[in-house]
Amino acid sequence: MRSIELFSVKTSCPDVAILGGGLSGRLVAWQLVCAGLRVALYERGNSEGSAAAGWVAAAMLAPLAESAISESCIVEMGTLGLERWPSLIERLPEPVFFQRTGTLVVWHQPDRSEAEMFERRMRTNAPEALLRGGVESLIGARLWEIEPALKHRFHEGWWFPNEGQLDSRQLLKSLASGLEKAGVALHWHTGIEEGHYPEARLVIDCRGLGARIAFSRLRGVRGEVVRIHAPGVGLRRPVRLLHPRYPIYIAPKESDRYVIGATELESEDMSPMTVRSALELLSAAFSLHPAFGEARILELNVNCRPALPDHLPCVQWDGKCTLRLNGLYRHGYLLAPVVTGEICALAIKILELAAVGRSLDWDNWRAGRQWPSLFQFKSE
Ligand SMILES: Cc1cc2nc3c(=O)[nH]c(=O)nc-3n(C[C@H](O)[C@H](O)[C@H](O)COP(=O)(O)OP(=O)(O)OC[C@H]3O[C@@H](n4cnc5c(N)ncnc54)[C@H](O)[C@@H]3O)c2cc1C
Repeated sequence: MRSIELFSVKTSCPDVAILGGGLSGRLVAWQLVCAGLRVALYERGNSEGSAAAGWVAAAMLAPLAESAISESCIVEMGTLGLERWPSLIERLPEPVFFQRTGTLVVWHQPDRSEAEMFERRMRTNAPEALLRGGVESLIGARLWEIEPALKHRFHEGWWFPNEGQLDSRQLLKSLASGLEKAGVALHWHTGIEEGHYPEARLVIDCRGLGARIAFSRLRGVRGEVVRIHAPGVGLRRPVRLLHPRYPIYIAPKESDRYVIGATELESEDMSPMTVRSALELLSAAFSLHPAFGEARILELNVNCRPALPDHLPCVQWDGKCTLRLNGLYRHGYLLAPVVTGEICALAIKILELAAVGRSLDWDNWRAGRQWPSLFQFKSE
């Protein structure tokens, strides 16, 4: 992103105040400070990010594996997002585990009908061009060659070789230290409520579920995950197990740690994981590989995904000084490079025009973007 001189007026007021320092808020702050803007960030929770949905997430970057349950624009945005992660991570001050060895989808033989349904949906929602070279049907020895840990346990599967994952906590931590080093005014433990926004030329609301008053139809979708330490299993990539009642994924992170998730419940309940969910997640993992039986449970965690009724992300402008990003739902990591890139480009344009006394031609802006439906105008 280019450097901006226009806003270096000497005043204590930042160019941009960002509300919410979870996944999207940190990434927006990082891109704007790298573009030369003066940025302040306000986060209700701590600098680790443990209050954010992004803290609990497995951070799988699986646009095609998600296509069975997502619209084609998610698949397309996610494919581009996946490409952009390495260059975003490269500029951060601390290492972030990023892996691109694909996603594997498997099923137990009695659940074969799930695989047929998965394939039908995937072929309906994923653009043909992305499926070409993006998915391979695996049988027997070929599956075991790709994922030796599953030898003789599973006989059929789908492999999405271009997909990836990252370590969400390392990312949030590295972003926090990058922001500090870059001189962002960081206000941890500082909740910002409606009508009490800090002073800035532009406010960008990235509060996820905390922005419910601004997004009346926003809801939380509860997700529970288990983190375990399981030396001796040796999965090389995230594996999804199709199942009529307990579809789960197991994402191997560094040092034999695994994230097993996730439930998807229509509830905003943030209370601890239920026994039922723990049993379902752990039993499904045990059915994938019996060595999970000896794993040590490190954490049982819960948070809620911020979702809009269409399950699509949204960038909103009020025609004045407030932008909002929300609705990342279960695809925050997948979509963040694209969606935060779009809101940063919009913020810079609004500020550039304001600096010369002009305002943005919204319809023109929207029409010129790759995903115009991402943008909504809502005056307040
Ligand atoms: C169980 C689970 C698994 C997931 N797995 C994946 C996955 O594998 N891949 C993927 O792409 N996505 C995944 N996601 C989705 C992803 O985590 C979310 O889409 C993403 O975190 C949303 O980002 P956000 O910045 O909008 O919200 P958050 O990450 O929740 O950040 C919002 C921040 O705003 C702060 N805040 C709230 N109110 C206020 C206030 N009044 N003032 C100041 N700060 C405030 C909060 O404390 C929080 O830190 C998963 C989510 C869950 C819950």
